[in-house]
Amino acid sequence: MKRDVDLLILGAGPAGMAAAVAASASGQRIALVDDNPATGGQIWRTGVNAPNYPAAEKLRAALAAEKNIELFTATRVIAHTGAHELLLENPLHSWRIGYGQLILCSGAREVLLPFPGWTLPGVTGAGGLQALIKGGMPVHGERLVLAGSGPLLLASAASAKAAGAQIAYIAEQATATDLAAFAMQLPRWPSKLHQAVQLFDRHYRSNSHVVEALGNGRLEAVRIRHGDTLIEVPCERLACGFGLRANTELAQTLGCSVADQAITVDNLQRTTLASHFAAGECTGIGGNELAQVEGAIAGFAAVGRLPQAQALFAQRQHWQRFADLLKRHFALKPELKNLPSADTLLCRCEDVPYGVVAGHADWHQAKLHSRCGMGACQGRVCGTAAEFLLGWPTPSLRAPFVPARVASLLPAAALPSAVQPVVE
Ligand SMILES: Cc1cc2nc3c(=O)[nH]c(=O)nc-3n(C[C@H](O)[C@H](O)[C@H](O)COP(=O)(O)OP(=O)(O)OC[C@H]3O[C@@H](n4cnc5c(N)ncnc54)[C@H](O)[C@@H]3O)c2cc1C
Repeated sequence: MKRDVDLLILGAGPAGMAAAVAASASGQRIALVDDNPATGGQIWRTGVNAPNYPAAEKLRAALAAEKNIELFTATRVIAHTGAHELLLENPLHSWRIGYGQLILCSGAREVLLPFPGWTLPGVTGAGGLQALIKGGMPVHGERLVLAGSGPLLLASAASAKAAGAQIAYIAEQATATDLAAFAMQLPRWPSKLHQAVQLFDRHYRSNSHVVEALGNGRLEAVRIRHGDTLIEVPCERLACGFGLRANTELAQTLGCSVADQAITVDNLQRTTLASHFAAGECTGIGGNELAQVEGAIAGFAAVGRLPQAQALFAQRQHWQRFADLLKRHFALKPELKNLPSADTLLCRCEDVPYGVVAGHADWHQAKLHSRCGMGACQGRVCGTAAEFLLGWPTPSLRAPFVPARVASLLPAAALPSAVQPVVE
């Protein structure tokens, strides 16, 4: 089956939702696709314990009011099947979608770095824990340590506290000097200053990082380096996040240029590939305000409403300055490259230790010899860690981009040879 639309938007987070709303007045046929079960992206995730986000509700209402926007949630991109054509799959069907123009709003993922004990039950990502809590996982009465870098640690701690967890320690790897310099600039963004004051927690410590998760079959304590001192903090949960990494792989596979771990775009959010735009955190980490304004610019630009797009440039610059500040003051310290030991698992899908991967010349060789990156996450976790630890570029995608039903890959005649499934 094949459907054609004028404008396809991939990712229904703040950027994708804003892009669809901005483009809708054109009357073009628009499809908004997301692999999550609902719109909202990472920040406005829905669930039994998720709060109500007024900004998200406003955008959801605007999307619902537009008859020319078709929403496809729980829908994943599994292959690139030709020029301006992708293969999509939802829980029931698969189909090819042809598009005139595409706006990539694929967001970002959190960076997880391996350290001894990181695979123990009780250890999750910081954003991952937040998603689990919003989805209804109970944490009431549990002691929680958060470790890594960036504002997401405090946001995740706030979600856990609201659900009844006790914060035992928040280890931020950035130095006190960097945090002070960051805080001094915050009054330029009053809403961010307000947010920082609201989220602050007395257990927050600079110049600290996780060294080891300890426990017999389950997490019992975390060993943390705070400056020159090693301390042990008893806890039931550890949530780690070492910043965010833009999801650039699909763009790269389609042929868009990627530089400095972000999709390259011009003033109108156009990528280097004609008729392909990108907006939000896939073009660089910057928060949901920047994602929304970039999404709106891309949406207007894609349908030729250039004055409306240009009117938003100053707003984008305002939030881009905040993004630059974040990048400058929360950069990961090189000493974090010593977190894993040789026998720490790097690829937890295929049980491949860090020492085995690091013994190869590049990701491709390591993959061929060890199966790292060949499991369910397809290298999104371990490949991203290897990018920081070993300086290897993240692996590009091969179809199927995510685990897919064999039935979706048939009839094979519809797909280029590289995608044809092997049926034995
Ligand atoms: C785990 C996590 C938790 C976060 N929590 C917070 C928070 O509490 N507070 C805060 O201020 N900021 C948070 N952030 C940052 C926040 O997500 C961003 O600032 C903002 O949401 C970026 O918006 P976006 O539209 O660019 O991307 P996202 O919100 O990431 O949206 C991208 C969407 O695209 C979908 N997608 C990606 N690739 C595909 C594909 N190939 N096919 C189909 N769909 C696809 C994703 O599932 C996602 O729904 C978090 C980020 C992460 C990664």
